[in-house]
Amino acid sequence: MKILITAGPTREAIDPVRFLSNRSSGRMGYALAHAFAHAQHQVLLISGPTALEVPDHVDFIPIESAEEMFVATCQVCSRYDVVICCAAVSDYRPVQCATQKIKKNAVTLSLELERTPDVLGSLRSRGFTGALIGFAAETQDLELQARRKLDEKGCDLIIANDVSQPGVGFDSEDNELLLVDPLGSIVLPRATKSQLAHQLVPIICDIAFQRQRMPE
Ligand code: C5P
Repeated sequence: MKILITAGPTREAIDPVRFLSNRSSGRMGYALAHAFAHAQHQVLLISGPTALEVPDHVDFIPIESAEEMFVATCQVCSRYDVVICCAAVSDYRPVQCATQKIKKNAVTLSLELERTPDVLGSLRSRGFTGALIGFAAETQDLELQARRKLDEKGCDLIIANDVSQPGVGFDSEDNELLLVDPLGSIVLPRATKSQLAHQLVPIICDIAFQRQRMPE
């Protein structure tokens, strides 16, 4: 199967030397890319800047901003059976990027921000008919929020994790996942991101097979 995975943080430029970003390490997305490639699937990873090595046998498109991730994903997604949006995309970006480094002349400085494109939330309206998988990092009402995202973004599965728990999720080795689909939910107990990625491969492949058998 052909699998497209978005991963890592995005960087939204403030001026030539500064940006807005987040603490995403990219580990979950890279672990998924490795696990799918290991299971002989064809994988494309579209990722923001991370400290990780691209896994062997994985095609790679590096991006920096949400806009670049959006354009790259929209350009190629129709060639893929599965899109997994694992990236921690910045929700906002500066309305303007200063052409020169901003000087510290003023006592206070305000940045005007605007929404970035929602990569995952745009794919169905742009005609993507394959299996669509999203992530949800939440600090409260995990299942409720995941189910809302499942509906709003037209996903087949939302993989949710509670980022208020110490030692799991953002920027850590481990995760504990709640898988939410239209029929119900199951928990994948705490394990390393690599172990969880290997558990997710058959689950996601099964969703993709079911999707391929669905009438258009
Ligand atoms: O709405 P929220 O950002 O919590 O949704 C998280 C999911 O949406 C993740 O799968 C993330 O990769 C994706 N997303 C995206 N583009 C955005 C924001 C989120 O693809 N601009």
